Amino acid sequence: MKTDISIYVHVPFCSRRCIYCDFASYVNDGFISAYFDAVHREIDIVSDQIDNSRVFTLYFGGGTPSHVPVKHISNLIDKIHAKFQYDPVEVTVEMNPEDVTVDLCRDLKAIGVNRVSLGLQSTSDQLLKVIGRPYNVKTFLEKYEITNTYFDNINVDLMYNLPFERLSDVDSDMKMIEKINPDHISFYELEIHEEVPLYSMIKSGTVKLPSEDESEKMYDMIIESLDKIGYSRYEISSWTKKKPSIHNISYWENGEYIGFGLSAGSHYGMRRCVNTFDIGEYIQKLEKNELPRIYDSINSTKEEIAETLFMGLRLTKGVKLTYLREKFGNADVNFYVKKMEKFCGEFLDCSDEILKFTQSGMKFSALVLSELV
Ligand code: SF4
Repeated sequence: MKTDISIYVHVPFCSRRCIYCDFASYVNDGFISAYFDAVHREIDIVSDQIDNSRVFTLYFGGGTPSHVPVKHISNLIDKIHAKFQYDPVEVTVEMNPEDVTVDLCRDLKAIGVNRVSLGLQSTSDQLLKVIGRPYNVKTFLEKYEITNTYFDNINVDLMYNLPFERLSDVDSDMKMIEKINPDHISFYELEIHEEVPLYSMIKSGTVKLPSEDESEKMYDMIIESLDKIGYSRYEISSWTKKKPSIHNISYWENGEYIGFGLSAGSHYGMRRCVNTFDIGEYIQKLEKNELPRIYDSINSTKEEIAETLFMGLRLTKGVKLTYLREKFGNADVNFYVKKMEKFCGEFLDCSDEILKFTQSGMKFSALVLSELV
C-alpha cells in the first residue's frame, strides 16, 4: 500500500533580517546555487531510502522562497516528480509582498503552485518599519491584488504583540482582513528568543512590548473579530473560510512528512530527523553525499503518543483517543491521558474519548502542552 507523505522544502534566503527572526535564513545570495545543488543531492539520497510513497502536499517555506529565482523552485518540483509518485492536492509557496509580480505569479501557477502564503505581519506602516519589514501597506495591497488574480487559495500571515502595538492596530488588521477577504489567516503571537536583535532592544529599553493585559485584549479581539467576519478557527493560530492548509494539517496530525533543506525536520514511520541549521555544513555534508542531520532517531511508542497529542491538541477538533489506542495500545495511551486529567473541565474537553481544548483552554494551550514535553 502506498503511504501519503508531505514534503517541505526550506529556502533559507531573505533580502534582509527582521529583528524578531530566529529562522534559519541568510542575507547572502552567494550561497543560492550551491544550496540548491545540495538540496537536489539530499532528495536523491532520501528518495532512495523511502519506498512506495505518494506526495500529496508540497510546501516551500523559509526564509523567503519568493526571493530566489523561480527556476530553483521549478527544478525542485521536477526533481520531486522524478523521485517520488507526485500527485499533490496542494502546492504552497511562501512569498513576501515586495517580491510579488505578475510574472512570478504566472510562473508559479504554470509549475503547479496552487496556494500562496503572504507574509503581511501588520497593517501599520509604523510597526512594519519597527520590525524591519521592507514594504508598506499600500504596496501590500497592490501585491495582494496581483496574487488574488492568479490564486484562489491565499493565506495571509499576521502577528500581534509587536513592539509599540496598540489595540487600535489590531483593529486595523481586522478591518483590512475583512476588506481583502483571503481564504486563510495565520495569526501568531510574537515570540522573542534570546538570540534575536529584538531581545536586546527590549532589554535596553529601546523598544517596548505591549503589557500582558494589552496583549490579552489583542488576543480576545482577534478571536472575536475573525469569528464575526466569517472565519472558523481550526488550529490554535489558523483560521479559514473554506480551505484549511492540508499540508499543515498533516503536521498537526503527526502524519508522515519529509523536510529537505536547512533546519528541515522529517517524520516517517516512527523516525524523526532534523537537519543542521548551518548552511556551510549543510552544503559540505551533501557534497560528500552525507545526510546533514543533527538529530536522527526512532521514536519510542511513548514518544509517538506524546508527539501525536502535542501536535493534535493544536487542532480545535482535538485528538481521538480510540485512534491512539488502536495504534499504540491502551497502557501507554492511558499514561498520557492520566497526565492530562488535571486539565479536564476548564482547559480540556475530555468527553467521548476525544481530548480537545475548550474555548478558554486554547488561550492557555502553551501551559497545557508543556505537560507533554
Ligand atoms: S522574512 Fe521571514 S525568514 Fe526572512 S528574516 Fe524576516 S521573518 Fe525571518
